[in-house]
Amino acid sequence: MPKTIIANWKMSLSLKESVDLAKKLSRDLRSITGHAVVLCPSFPALLPVGQVLAGSKIALGAQDMFWETHGAYTGEVAAGMLQEVGCTHVIIGHSERRNIAGETDAMVRKKVAAAIAAGLTPILCVGEKFQERQEGLKDHVIAEQVRSALEGIAISSAAKLYIAYEPVWVIGSGQAVEPEEAQYTAEVIRQVAVDLFTEYNSASAIRVLYGGSVDAANITSFLRQPDVHGVLVGGASLKAETFSSMIQALV
Ligand code: PEP
Repeated sequence: MPKTIIANWKMSLSLKESVDLAKKLSRDLRSITGHAVVLCPSFPALLPVGQVLAGSKIALGAQDMFWETHGAYTGEVAAGMLQEVGCTHVIIGHSERRNIAGETDAMVRKKVAAAIAAGLTPILCVGEKFQERQEGLKDHVIAEQVRSALEGIAISSAAKLYIAYEPVWVIGSGQAVEPEEAQYTAEVIRQVAVDLFTEYNSASAIRVLYGGSVDAANITSFLRQPDVHGVLVGGASLKAETFSSMIQALV
């Protein structure tokens, strides 16, 4: 089954480093077939990285967007602007935006709706904090984040949606959860989607990813899980050799 590998470069690379990495990856991954690869650089690097990727099999994604289409929103970037520079995907509700920038479930929902309305593919991130997990609230937290992000959204568009399970306490830690837990959580997410979208039978089109300390050593164990349709990779996506070896291992 084709899988999706998404690189989240966060605020880790300069413009030059981003372009150089994109060049290396588009060269190394010239022959990827079946699997989808998406690079998500910082905003200033989107245009030049998009130019590097033009004609390659690698897609371009942003790390965030705003829900309005234009207007007096200093510092924000609209879906249409992302599309102008070549984006087809956008990460929404990453835990770093929720926990550092104060993004709420309501804001995440508006962003998902605006992305879908514009024809961008949202990569909706959900995940529990360590304390929520210790309190036994993990499944509840995940289900509520999924529900509040998707409730009432035009279902016919749900076919173009990724939901990434990213346990907050695992991100950047070097210690991923067990692949079986990613599979279990993907089932929880799918069930919420099925309950939300019963009338339309489009929940099966929602693809679930796992993210959190995925690396060259563990990527295949996650992608082997039947309901894990791909991975979201942070740290391990910053080095061309590592990231392309992770993808080439799938071919
Ligand atoms: C992320 O921040 O989305 C992520 C998955 O990071 P890392 O792979 O570094 O844990």
